[in-house]
Amino acid sequence: MANIHQFDVVVVGAGGAGLMAGLYASRTAKTAVISKLYPTRSHTGAAQGGIGAALGNIEEDRPEWHTYDTVKGSDYLGDQDAIEFMCEEAPQAVLELEHMGLPFDRTPDGKISQRPFGGHTNNETGKPVRRAAHAADRTGHMILQTLYQQCLKNKVNFFDEYQVLDLLIVDGKAVGVVAVNLADGELHTFHAKSVIIATGGHGRIFEVTSNAYAYTGDGIAIAMRRGIPMEDMEFFQFHPTGIYKLGILITEGVRGEGGILINGQGERFMPKYAPTVKDLASRDVISRAIYTEIREGRGVDGKNYVWLDARPESIVKYAALDGRTNIDGTPYTITGEQLLAKLPDIVDFNRVYLGIDPVTQMMPIQPTAHYTMGGIPTNKYGEVVIDDKNTVMPGLYAAGECACVSVHGANRLGTNSLLDLVVFGKYAGLKAAEYANQAEFGKLPVDAEAATRSAFEALRNGSGKENAFDIAVEMKKVMFDEVGIYRSEKGMKIAIEKVRELRERYKQVKVTDTGKIFNTEMLNAWELGCMLEIAEVVAECALNRQESRGGHSREDFPNRDDVNWLKHTLAWWKDGKTAIDYKPVTITKYQPKARVY
Ligand SMILES: Cc1cc2nc3c(=O)[nH]c(=O)nc-3n(C[C@H](O)[C@H](O)[C@H](O)COP(=O)(O)OP(=O)(O)OC[C@H]3O[C@@H](n4cnc5c(N)ncnc54)[C@H](O)[C@@H]3O)c2cc1C
Repeated sequence: MANIHQFDVVVVGAGGAGLMAGLYASRTAKTAVISKLYPTRSHTGAAQGGIGAALGNIEEDRPEWHTYDTVKGSDYLGDQDAIEFMCEEAPQAVLELEHMGLPFDRTPDGKISQRPFGGHTNNETGKPVRRAAHAADRTGHMILQTLYQQCLKNKVNFFDEYQVLDLLIVDGKAVGVVAVNLADGELHTFHAKSVIIATGGHGRIFEVTSNAYAYTGDGIAIAMRRGIPMEDMEFFQFHPTGIYKLGILITEGVRGEGGILINGQGERFMPKYAPTVKDLASRDVISRAIYTEIREGRGVDGKNYVWLDARPESIVKYAALDGRTNIDGTPYTITGEQLLAKLPDIVDFNRVYLGIDPVTQMMPIQPTAHYTMGGIPTNKYGEVVIDDKNTVMPGLYAAGECACVSVHGANRLGTNSLLDLVVFGKYAGLKAAEYANQAEFGKLPVDAEAATRSAFEALRNGSGKENAFDIAVEMKKVMFDEVGIYRSEKGMKIAIEKVRELRERYKQVKVTDTGKIFNTEMLNAWELGCMLEIAEVVAECALNRQESRGGHSREDFPNRDDVNWLKHTLAWWKDGKTAIDYKPVTITKYQPKARVY
């Protein structure tokens, strides 16, 4: 084993969560951040709309309201201790980003500007509250750049374009990871006292998705293969407004600025489904509403899409009907120029990808697979917990989209992911360093790279006739069609059977490039292996949960069932099969209530 590196803390992933963790860990411990992408290409850079915090800069707001909105948005599946912790930490976390130099948009008097987002309300009036701090529609980009600069300043050791392929666990403790250097195909072992997994989501298991190509769930798959259970994998968020067919996200910030949804008959339909918050209802509610409109024949031209209308004259018209006002109480207005200043990327995407100008034309949209609520179970300090009693695995941490704290429960509110990254990324980094500073290095396995080498050799020498791309296309389609916005036993059984068949075919995959230098074909094939296992776990967990809650909607079990299902799912991947158990939800102040929209 030629390439062995030793660090106190190894962070896998350089998105918002990984960089925040790396930054905090590096203050007291020798830290490395490993990333398959160049750090600033991480998906956090695609986040548009904003980061939630009850700063109260424009109107009254309180962390308790943010907490309650998040509990309610989670459909009561979120752990309330963790949610309260996150929402209380939020204002401080946003100010910390500001002090690091993040160029937030400003109010006229120089405070951080905030915009409304779905599900965030003034708890006294029930009306939307301006809680999302933003930097135009490039908030994630700014977070990523700011944190990367801070990490460089703090001399974090970066291993860019190294892809982690295995997690090393010895005697119940994490002791490191194995990675391949994409530039030359060499394997490297990273020996560590603490490992933090921050690898993001897995939206690429679905056909229409807002997620980057790199969202293949590697961190979840490698942890699952090493016996770590996954929590609440059935809960996947479909964002209501993806560009028709392409899935590219149109931020909820568009509706925050006053945009509305219109069906094929020219009607605004959200007041029918959510009379109070209308176009700013939670994402699960709006995605189902769009789907219902389409299914009942009110899509545009009988197709699978509806309109998002952000033309200034429409915004002003509907704002007047809704009684929306500016900060000074005057009727809400917006001009084409202001729209362009507030949402430059959205205007650009539409012009570039569709040849449509949102200032004068409506945008064709359909729901798009967006965010996994489920993932690696952790407590609120980012420590990975491996059973129903929340037993901590020494030396293992997770943060960001791949983790399940669980603050998002059955449905995440917009702007709460960026917040989750900075809050729990920070605590994972602090805890990992604290642990590393008092622990000894664990022993590495005799041949740490053995499992990875044989998996790679099997792919390289595969003599079958299957093509990884074809298998991926079939997986994505069946997952989107049968384990998507609406689910039923029949459809999910079809999906599970199909994914199992695809896993068999995957064993016969042949890669044509067997070289070592930037062999993306082989890595894509390896990633497909991760996605197939994740897809099966998602479908099995969804089939198992016989109720509808948040992002999980069963046509055969349309109601939420707190008597039987107010509990988290834990799923283990054992001998190529899913084994399911449960753990209780932490409820502190808020007893479950029916959701009112
Ligand atoms: C288009 C879009 C818009 C969004 N807008 C918002 C928003 O406005 N507000 C909000 O709160 N949330 C938003 N979200 C959600 C939020 O941006 C993501 O959930 C969040 O950025 C994920 O951050 P992360 O650090 O967990 O992962 P990422 O930023 O994706 O980083 C993952 C990192 O892991 C690395 N990695 C992955 N696998 C491996 C491996 N095998 N080996 C080594 N490295 C690996 C990658 O290189 C990358 O550096 C949006 C998401 C999308 C897709």
